[in-house]
Amino acid sequence: MQITIHRATQVGGQITRISTAQASIIVDLGHNLPNRAEDKDAYDNDRAIAEITKDCSAILYTHYHGDHIGLFHHVSDNIPQYIGEVAKQVVCRKYKQLCFLRDPSLQQKYGRALTVASAMHTFHENQTLRFGDIIVTPYFVSHSAYDAYMFLIEAEGKRILHTGDFRGHGYLSKGLLPTIQKYIGQVDVLIIEGTMLARKDETILTERALSQKAAELMKEHKYVFVHCSSTDMERLASFKNATRSMSPRRSLLADGYQRDILAIFSVTAGKKSACFDFGRVDICAKDSPLDIGTENNGFTMFVRASDTFYTLLDQILPQLPTGETPLLIYSMWEGYIDREDTRNDEYVKLQERFTDVVQLHTSGHATIDTLRHVCGLTNPRLAILPIHRDKETDFSSIGIPVQLQEKVVTADCRLNDTIDIKFL
Ligand SMILES: [Zn+2]
Ligand SMILES: [Zn+2]
Repeated sequence: MQITIHRATQVGGQITRISTAQASIIVDLGHNLPNRAEDKDAYDNDRAIAEITKDCSAILYTHYHGDHIGLFHHVSDNIPQYIGEVAKQVVCRKYKQLCFLRDPSLQQKYGRALTVASAMHTFHENQTLRFGDIIVTPYFVSHSAYDAYMFLIEAEGKRILHTGDFRGHGYLSKGLLPTIQKYIGQVDVLIIEGTMLARKDETILTERALSQKAAELMKEHKYVFVHCSSTDMERLASFKNATRSMSPRRSLLADGYQRDILAIFSVTAGKKSACFDFGRVDICAKDSPLDIGTENNGFTMFVRASDTFYTLLDQILPQLPTGETPLLIYSMWEGYIDREDTRNDEYVKLQERFTDVVQLHTSGHATIDTLRHVCGLTNPRLAILPIHRDKETDFSSIGIPVQLQEKVVTADCRLNDTIDIKFL
């Protein structure tokens, strides 16, 4: 068996290939995170992806973040691609939105992506898939993308767990360790994300605690604007639940795209738990302006950093009653604002429209404690392959026993951040 991991020592741009003598699958085909406009992804073209996916039986996606699926539209039609059922709906809605962009070349690119996404196969948790002699079982995980999975991959007498991105402190994290204990147990190889290794100082709130803090802020501010990922269901639910706890009742506002995404979550996860049923969401968009007069009790509005929202905010903010200071809650990673190398200028531009801005965020990734628990429960016999982490980080320093530390294999930089390893 051979495992090839491209770009192992960076966060994002994830690609893992697992091959036996008979078959070969790829887990995730991610684009580099868009830190700066000039950061090009060398794999972002049909030729590079044809090379990487050559003779591959299938591609399976852990979740719908761009750093895990972003190159899917380059894949040849004869290689089947698999994703979670709800994740597929979110991806299709997202690309449908991108098709509205005016630039004809982008329209063509995203149109092709929408066609490919619509043709994706779906899988279900705990149900095995077979590709030649490779058996894959997806297990649900909590992450800042809903409908995310880790994969147990079994072939040639070996068991591999690929965690994808995951965390232990979300609403939907309760099953993480019991699932590993009950259904997975010891593995031969653990491929595990290590995003938080470089972010050890970050405060980690549970999603529930974050929602309570949001409610406290909403008591202070009637008009609250929330900038968070439009597809992070658990985070959106935290702000929805905080809003619903206000009395008198406040409106929940979003544009048409965000409302469609919330509707996807309401009819799927929302059927299993009221926490994710978003209920009534009112539209607030350029072509359906807000009547502030009817919003005396206040509102929570989901916003994004785009020209459309700047125009909308420039209409709404001056209309708010004097004496009511609107609050922008920034609910994403602080590095997009504070760090020179990862700053997102659009996010900064959005914040400049507000005098009161509060950061309220918690990570979508596993803490060091959670990483240690997963290593302990899976107790890998042959190797731990850390991925999705900063180059300078040391996975063996997470407090695992020496016999596990010795199994940590890191990328060989001479191979251009690729781990390429054969197990006999
Ligand atoms: Zn990721
Ligand atoms: Zn992710």
